[in-house]
Amino acid sequence: MPWLDPRRWKLWSLPPVVLAYVVTVVVSATLVTLATAWRTPAEALNWPIFLLLAGGAVVHLEAARGIERIREIGAEGSPHAHMQSVWLFAGVLLLPMPLLVALIVISYTHSWYRVYKRRAVLFRKVFSAATVVLGSATAQLVLGLFPVRAVDVDGPLGLLALVTAGFLYWFINYAFVVTAIFVTNRQNPVRTALGNASDVLIVLASVGLGSGVAIIMTLRPWLTPMLLLTVLALHMGLLLPQFRVAARTDSKTGLVDATFWHDVAERELARARRLVSTVGVLILDLDHFKLINDTYGHLAGDRVLRAVADALRHSVRSYDLVGRFGGEEFAVLLPGVSTDEVRATAERIRFEIASLHIVVTDRLGEQQVVLGLTASVGAAVFPDTATELSPLLLAADDALYQAKNNGRDRVATARVF
Ligand code: GH3
Ligand code: MG
Ligand code: MG
Repeated sequence: MPWLDPRRWKLWSLPPVVLAYVVTVVVSATLVTLATAWRTPAEALNWPIFLLLAGGAVVHLEAARGIERIREIGAEGSPHAHMQSVWLFAGVLLLPMPLLVALIVISYTHSWYRVYKRRAVLFRKVFSAATVVLGSATAQLVLGLFPVRAVDVDGPLGLLALVTAGFLYWFINYAFVVTAIFVTNRQNPVRTALGNASDVLIVLASVGLGSGVAIIMTLRPWLTPMLLLTVLALHMGLLLPQFRVAARTDSKTGLVDATFWHDVAERELARARRLVSTVGVLILDLDHFKLINDTYGHLAGDRVLRAVADALRHSVRSYDLVGRFGGEEFAVLLPGVSTDEVRATAERIRFEIASLHIVVTDRLGEQQVVLGLTASVGAAVFPDTATELSPLLLAADDALYQAKNNGRDRVATARVF
C-alpha cells in the first residue's frame, strides 16, 4: 500500500510553490481544529446529532458508490463535485468544530477507501478535506456573529445567517481547490480548473439541502430518514446521466474514449460476475474507409465518422456504452445480453450503418452523398468466450478479422472456449 509509506508520496513530486500551498492549507486546517478543540466545552459535543450525520454520510456514500467511482474517473483535472456537503453543511449548522472535523474526516476516509483509493492521489483528498475544514470554520465564525443559532430563528435574520454561512462554506472550499488545480496545471485553460457550472450547482444544492437536514433534525429528528432517501434519489437521478457527459469523450464523435470504455467494461464484468450475468462486446471496423478519405477528403471522412457514431448510439439501449477505439474502430458494451442477442444487435448495427445517407462536402466544396457504407463486426460474450476483459476483447478482435477475411460487411462471433 504505497500511500502508507511517506517516502513514496506523490506529494513530494509537486513543484515547490504548489507543495508550499498544499502544506500551508493542510497545516492551517489542523491548527484551526486544534485551536477550536481547545476551547470547546465537553457539554457542547452533541453526540446524537453527530452520529445521525455520520450515519447519513456513510449510508449515502455506500449507496452512490458506483456512480461516484465513474464520476471520479471523468472529473480528472477539474474540481470533483460530490454531495457529501449535505451532511457536512448540516454539521456546520449543528455541531461544534471538533465534532464537525471528525465528521469531515469520517466522510473523506470512507470515500477514500470505498471510491478513490484505486485512482486518486491521497494528498489531493487530504487537501480537499482541509479546505472543507477551513470553509466550515469560516462559516461557523460568521454564524457566531449572529445573536442566535441559525436553525433556531425564523425571519429574515435566520435566512441571512443561513445564506451567508452556506455561501462562505462553499466559496472558500471552491476557491482553494480551484487555485490548487490552476497552479498545478497551468497549461490548461482556467475554465477547466473552474469545473463546469452543473458541478457548482450540485454543490450549492447540497449545501441548501444540508440546511434542510439541519432544521429537520433539530425540529423533527424522526423525519431525517425521509431526507436521506430524498438525497439518495436526487443523487442517483442527477448524477447517473451526468457521468456520460462528464466522462472523457472523443471530441470528433462525442463517444467515450477507449480508456473510459475499458474502465466501464471492467466494472460491468465485475458486476456480471457478482450477479452471475453476461456482458456482450462488439468491435466494429468500417470497411474500406480509406476510400472515403481518398475520394472525398479527410473532412468528409470525419463527417462520416460522426454519422456512424450517432447511428451506433441510436441502435443500442441507453445503458449500453459505445466507445471510439481510435480511427474508424468502435466498441460496444452490452450488459446482460445472451449470445443470440449480441449477434442480433450486431446485425442491427450493420443494417443501420448500411442505410445511412450522409451528406458531405468534398474537396471541391461540392455536396456529395455517401451511401452503402459497410462495416465488419466481431462479437464476444462474457463468460462464454472469456472471463477477463483482455481475452474477451482479443477474441472479439479475432472475430472481426475473420469477418474481414471472409469478405467484410458481416458479423463474426468469437468461438466459445
Ligand atoms: P478495411 O478496414 O476494410 O480493411 O479497410 P480500411 O480502409 O478501413 O482500412 P483501415 O481500417 O486499416 O484504415 C483506416 C483508415 O481510416 C485509415 C485512415 O485514413 C482513416 N482514419 C483513421 N482515423 C481517421 C479520422 O479520425 N478521420 C478520418 N477522416 N479518417 C480516419
Ligand atoms: Mg477499416
Ligand atoms: Mg481500422
